[in-house]
Amino acid sequence: MQQSSLLTSNHTESYYAATANTTALRNRLESDIEVDVCVVGAGFSGLSSALHLAELGYKVVVVESSRVGWGASGRNGGQIVNGFSRDLIEIEGRYGADAAKAIGEMALTGGDIIRQRIEKYNIKCDLKSGNVFAAFTPKQMKGLEAMCGNWQKHGHDQLEMLGVDQIREHINTDRYIGGLLDRKGGHLHPLNLCQGEAAAFESLGGIIFEQSSVTGIQPLNDRQMVKTAQGSVTANKVVVCGNAYLGNVVPEIANKIMPVSTQIITTEVLGKSLCQRLMPGQTCVEDTNYMLDYYRMTADHRLLFGGGSTYGGAEPSSIVNKLRPHLEKTFPELKGIGIDFAWSGNFALTMTRIPHFGQIGENVFFIHGYSGHGVTATHLAGKLIAQAIEGQPEQFNHFSDLPYYPLPGGRLFRVPLSVIGSWWYIARDKLGV
Ligand SMILES: Cc1cc2nc3c(=O)[nH]c(=O)nc-3n(C[C@H](O)[C@H](O)[C@H](O)COP(=O)(O)OP(=O)(O)OC[C@H]3O[C@@H](n4cnc5c(N)ncnc54)[C@H](O)[C@@H]3O)c2cc1C
Repeated sequence: MQQSSLLTSNHTESYYAATANTTALRNRLESDIEVDVCVVGAGFSGLSSALHLAELGYKVVVVESSRVGWGASGRNGGQIVNGFSRDLIEIEGRYGADAAKAIGEMALTGGDIIRQRIEKYNIKCDLKSGNVFAAFTPKQMKGLEAMCGNWQKHGHDQLEMLGVDQIREHINTDRYIGGLLDRKGGHLHPLNLCQGEAAAFESLGGIIFEQSSVTGIQPLNDRQMVKTAQGSVTANKVVVCGNAYLGNVVPEIANKIMPVSTQIITTEVLGKSLCQRLMPGQTCVEDTNYMLDYYRMTADHRLLFGGGSTYGGAEPSSIVNKLRPHLEKTFPELKGIGIDFAWSGNFALTMTRIPHFGQIGENVFFIHGYSGHGVTATHLAGKLIAQAIEGQPEQFNHFSDLPYYPLPGGRLFRVPLSVIGSWWYIARDKLGV
């Protein structure tokens, strides 16, 4: 998606936008104001940071190009998947046992923050517990067993390995040979969570400007000035949370991530009894393929089914044609089912699939690159940013100190090189090895 499409008062035409709790539009930034902290972007990263900071008593402004939750946060699968896009085993292998321990201790924090906020601020967002990682092959099962053992080592005690019969108690399909159930995972309506967090932030005196694209950030004495077309915010600290949609606004971080698109379709209403028969456990599911399917039932009894990814952020010519075969293979009973919604969104990929947190000088922080698993990690990131701004950067530094690996090929060739690299993994999915 291009930067020019950002400045809009419309959400993408998703199931979430059609069932949002509110459609009220906020003001544009049309003056010059001064605050403690300016947050760029009103997705989960920005809102989580802003709310943590407002709870600590900071005067905070959020500046958003489009609408609260317009980006990945308001259009994702809504799956609360604990941990990070790369498993702790791989984190340990790449960065060592100390880093894995420090990061492993935070693997459940994001999900806990979400649940606490839903309760504290009474956010209506259809929260349900439980997520299942589903395996097609013995090799994938072995991987899940290793992941389960390793998570338990880090104190996660809500996990259960599922055999071939047990997984069918959750998902009524013969596609899988087993899986891993995480009872501390779950799913929700992400746009309504964004809106609820935005309202909570505003209830504490925070201000959000919508339809206000940040065009640049520049030092002003020992502060920073964040500029939009019609106004500016001067702040002691800036938190950049534009993630896959930021483009080149902050050149220091523009090349550190790659936008990747993924798509979702939502069926017509299936009704309660069919939903319960197809997914008796009412969990959400993601399979363990490289090009994975992820799906769940909605509160109004539809199947919301996502999958695939395209490096660079392009959209397929027909989202329905791309995803329908996967949906029907999973649930043959739904062959020919009506599709009411189809949309695409971009997440930000890092080379290591570990989120990338850092600082540009003393006063500008950035958090991005959740690599497709950001619902929980964004909420953790917001907490760590707030701690760092409070002068307690230890946990933030566990991430920001990790060595950074650039995407191969630089800005020009990172997309084609990543596509070539992915062929190997896609071929493995197809061969089932
Ligand atoms: C289709 C899809 C499905 C997904 N499913 C899941 C899932 O089920 N579970 C999971 O854990 N993760 C999932 N993800 C990933 C997850 O949604 C993201 O990692 C997460 O939402 C990132 O949040 P964010 O706030 O960093 O970025 P975003 O939500 O993209 O927010 C960035 C915001 O910054 C704004 N912005 C950008 N540039 C500027 C600027 N110059 N000025 C002002 N504002 C600006 C944008 O308008 C946008 O609102 C999915 C992603 C997609 C796209």
